[in-house]
Amino acid sequence: MPINRQQLEKYIGQLLDVDRFRDYCPNGLQVEGRDTIACIATAVTASQAAIDAAIACGADALLVHHGFFWKNETSPIVRHKKQRIAALLRNDLSLFAYHLPLDSHPELGNNARLGELLGLSVTGRTSEQDMVWLGELAAPCSWPDWQARVSRALGRDVLAIPGATPVQRVAWCSGGAQSYFHDVATLDVDCFLTGEASEFVTHLARESGVGFVAAGHHATERHGIRALGEHLANQFQLELHHLDIDNPV
Ligand SMILES: [Zn+2]
Repeated sequence: MPINRQQLEKYIGQLLDVDRFRDYCPNGLQVEGRDTIACIATAVTASQAAIDAAIACGADALLVHHGFFWKNETSPIVRHKKQRIAALLRNDLSLFAYHLPLDSHPELGNNARLGELLGLSVTGRTSEQDMVWLGELAAPCSWPDWQARVSRALGRDVLAIPGATPVQRVAWCSGGAQSYFHDVATLDVDCFLTGEASEFVTHLARESGVGFVAAGHHATERHGIRALGEHLANQFQLELHHLDIDNPV
């Protein structure tokens, strides 16, 4: 059953409470396509591969976590940015992007899904805009077992810098949230898990005793957009295609 594009944008905006967030990109409709939407595609990032796959499966809208128009990017629409936007416009395909609101949603969000996948029960949230989640495993886990568990849950190798204690109390934030480790290393937790690592995390882990896991930016952010797509497909009886474009980072 098709839905009007504006209705869909309004519905998602309320569902994810987008106006509450200070973000690095616009959340919502980023590129306007046709008025009526019967088929949606979801992907982590609005790459050319995802756009081409959405066009190939006949989608009316592509929904992503990483869209366009980031605060630190240059404005001119040239080269690969032109190619992507041209493909969307030529095919009348809408692009919707949800960044921090999709990390944050208590059920559909990346961090909610990640916690569930890792068997963590949520005990709280902290740091800027409550982006860091806190939780516990049912029982303490040795570092080799924890690394293997994360690796199994996400289907890839992960980088671990063990901490001073077995892992039970975990802080986590999907994506490229390694800078939050400065805050998290002062908390009473055994491990901070995020997507990406920087050089400093090794020393901070060793010196603070709070261990660190980099489990992959893409790998930790695959599940929120998928959950959002499934929710919308059920809610409005839309055709849904999840496009899993492999990314080792
Ligand atoms: Zn991200």
